[in-house]
Amino acid sequence: MAKDLNKELIIDGLRMDGRLTDQLRDVKMEIGTVSSASGSAYVSFGHTTAIASVQGPRSLFPKFLQNSQTGILRVRYNMLPFSVSDRKSPGPDRRSTELSKVIRKSLEPAVILDDFPKATIDGFIEMIEADGSTRVTGINALSLALAHAGIPMKDLVAACSVGKINNTLILDLNGLEDNNSESDVAVAMMPNKNLITLLQMDGMLTKEEFMKLLNTAKDACGKIYEMQKMALLEKYKGEEQ
Ligand code: UDP
Repeated sequence: MAKDLNKELIIDGLRMDGRLTDQLRDVKMEIGTVSSASGSAYVSFGHTTAIASVQGPRSLFPKFLQNSQTGILRVRYNMLPFSVSDRKSPGPDRRSTELSKVIRKSLEPAVILDDFPKATIDGFIEMIEADGSTRVTGINALSLALAHAGIPMKDLVAACSVGKINNTLILDLNGLEDNNSESDVAVAMMPNKNLITLLQMDGMLTKEEFMKLLNTAKDACGKIYEMQKMALLEKYKGEEQ
């Protein structure tokens, strides 16, 4: 669909879904959604919903792919055919291949892979609903699934999107906003280490706008990080009973 940069998407300071410019959608997080996986998580931001699951660490085959010094992380991102109103054709495509790589790169700095020589840790992200910002929702979910699988990590990875519509800077773009944005930026961080692991920008921003958006994203990642920790605590509190 062609972008319409003039489409009015902010009226009297409110976005079409009633949010303020710096407001996240409703966030839900649940750990242990998939009983057959080593670790799993459900994360939704409004109508963008991801289920992530982790299998492994397990021996990597074929053997020539093994690294005797370290394990590897593999990621598959997939949008289900019914995740958007125009049916998405099933199976991998260029976008899902790129997003799988981007998501892997954003998580790798957090995962201590040296502990698992010759092994693979496989992460799968299924987007059940895709209403904008799916890569960052997938990162939040897979980070939780890795922690739930007991994979040693330096920190959780928290991610969000920021962007510009109607000449206004906004947080957490939904599908309509993404489709008509002047710019959108995906940010992932290891908040405890104040380390950015993903920064991907479409469109144009001034330096001032970019710095402002980056600060908004850092604040939002901090909030998402707290929600991730709460979700993990809830899970283990539940298991003690
Ligand atoms: N989208 C779609 N069909 C597709 C791919 C994407 O409708 O085949 C929509 C979906 O809502 C997605 C949005 O376009 O969330 C933005 O996609 P983008 O590639 O920018 O990545 P995202 O923002 O989801 O990380």
